[in-house]
Amino acid sequence: MCIFCKIAKKEEKAYVVYENERAMAFLDINPLSKGHTLVIPKEHYENILQVPSDIAKDLHEAIKAVCEKLKVFNPDGFNIVSNIGRQAGQVIMHAHIHVIPRYKDEEGKPISFGKPIKVDLEEVYKALV
Ligand code: 5GP
Ligand code: ZN
Repeated sequence: MCIFCKIAKKEEKAYVVYENERAMAFLDINPLSKGHTLVIPKEHYENILQVPSDIAKDLHEAIKAVCEKLKVFNPDGFNIVSNIGRQAGQVIMHAHIHVIPRYKDEEGKPISFGKPIKVDLEEVYKALV
């Protein structure tokens, strides 16, 4: 059983800050900012693309509830991200969404996706529609 499944079943300790029927939120053990929280489906799915839409609704409720709770720290914004696949930085193969409050005076930089690349948008568009 994966570590997040164990947390979901309360077999492993975590600072759980919110839960509903099918989603749970707990503090990231290595926070990127004060209040960095992870939102997971209680059931195991490898990533958020595998999560059925009705469960995604509970995840969305959890994200909103967490952001509301995090207002106690007066954040100036949030990054809400989910890494899918190792190339994208996913380490824990149980779907999770990072809720990272951002502060004007924090040392860490907000998440950046790097420099834009040159690509033929017309060609990309045609491949997608
Ligand atoms: P990923 O890189 O897979 O998107 O993010 C995994 C996150 O889970 C990391 O930010 C890491 O700090 C966090 N994490 C890994 N193991 C544990 C754990 O046992 N407990 C908690 N609370 N967070 C964890
Ligand atoms: Zn799991």
